[in-house]
Amino acid sequence: MPTFAEMNLPQSLIQSLTQAGLVTPTPVQQAAIPVALKGRDIMAQAKTGSGKTLAFLLPIIEQVMRQDASAPAPVPYTKSGPRQGSGPKFLVLAPTRELALQIEMELRKYAPLSVTSLSVYGGTPIERHYRALQRPPLVVVGTPGRLLDLAGSGHLKMGGVTFLVMDEADQMLDRGFLRDINRIIRLLPAERQTLLFSATFSKDIQTLAQSMQRDPARISVDPGISTPTTIVHAYYVVPGDHARTQLVYTLLQAVTGGERSMVFCDQKYKVRRLASHLGGEPASVGALTGNHSQAQRERTLGAFRAGRLRSLVATDVAARGLDIQDVAQVIHYELPTNPNSYVHRTGRTGRAEKDGATFLILSQSEEREYLRMVRQLSIETKKLALPVLVTLPSPAPMPVSERQPPRHRPRRNAEPSARRVRDGETRGPAHRPGTPVGGSRRSRY
Ligand code: ADP
Ligand code: MG
Repeated sequence: MPTFAEMNLPQSLIQSLTQAGLVTPTPVQQAAIPVALKGRDIMAQAKTGSGKTLAFLLPIIEQVMRQDASAPAPVPYTKSGPRQGSGPKFLVLAPTRELALQIEMELRKYAPLSVTSLSVYGGTPIERHYRALQRPPLVVVGTPGRLLDLAGSGHLKMGGVTFLVMDEADQMLDRGFLRDINRIIRLLPAERQTLLFSATFSKDIQTLAQSMQRDPARISVDPGISTPTTIVHAYYVVPGDHARTQLVYTLLQAVTGGERSMVFCDQKYKVRRLASHLGGEPASVGALTGNHSQAQRERTLGAFRAGRLRSLVATDVAARGLDIQDVAQVIHYELPTNPNSYVHRTGRTGRAEKDGATFLILSQSEEREYLRMVRQLSIETKKLALPVLVTLPSPAPMPVSERQPPRHRPRRNAEPSARRVRDGETRGPAHRPGTPVGGSRRSRY
């Protein structure tokens, strides 16, 4: 087994990797890093959770450190201004805000201070980015929309970019970023190195690669199945929506220790409703959708990462590229609208070769479509018998920011049970005898 120490990387970088417990490169890192260090373009496909981020970050860090070492008296930031022309040399495109932030966080973990960096994305005041770009960092990680806004206003100069990374390329296209990507590419020098990473490789991606790369080295690790093999896939068929929600609750209760669960729904209102039915934040269940403000999204993700929230209910906004430790299971509340979505959501578990499980909850009528999708993805799945369903807690009061305008809904005297949820009494794996939990079915929907 080769190690990072055998790669042509600076000694101090190897040390910080080792300190973080990273000694052996993953297969995609093994294949991509030496090629990237030689300056070649790369088009790499590897399953989610296989370490693609460092496969492009390590060559970036190496380049900066090598140039630092050969440059006379390098001073990263001086009062007299930036040392690097007037724009970044390294540009990383990411499909979501969370992913952009995560990539930059990963860079900060291993890069020395001389590798200056900034992540930019919508939802945060653009003035903050204007200010940060007054002294341009070497590495900018961002979502296409915000990058174009910053370029358009003249705050971000892209003419000095010599190294471009496109992460999660398939998701970029799924999210309709093709035009934005092409506009960004036109702002970059033709003379540059371009790395493209994706969990899945469609025809469209290959066409895109052709338009932006020069004779790329093709790397495909573990082709065919694009979800980690350590993941167990299984599904349940439920008779109706109430059982669907109860089953989610039952599965969440089954996870113990420091492990976490993610639950995906297709629509924002379903996320909000489900999180509330599961007890909400008082019961350690967070909700994440594109409707939440950027600050809320970061707060919720931070709490989930830190383990203060044990479960996260989300739309696909959280399905892409996010790396959160110890996600033991991914639950799909319903059949995802497309197979890519299933692959990406599922990729949130079984990260870094840990075991994971993914459960899909289906209605009778969705079963056949699911089995077709599974065949298409060459995944093995099995149908599980419904477990004994745990009674739901009373719906949690929603944070004020999420309340919708009042609707005509039957109001129940939810007060006493809401307090119980806050006190954590109804959190246990089973409903305690004598505790009046829940109410009539009708009141929940
Ligand atoms: P991908 O982008 O392929 O979905 P990530 O880059 O997010 O995967 O990496 C998944 C996890 O694997 C992260 O927690 C990362 O720290 C870990 N990881 C990456 N490289 C290594 C390695 N060489 N050894 C052990 N763990 C690693
Ligand atoms: Mg990734």
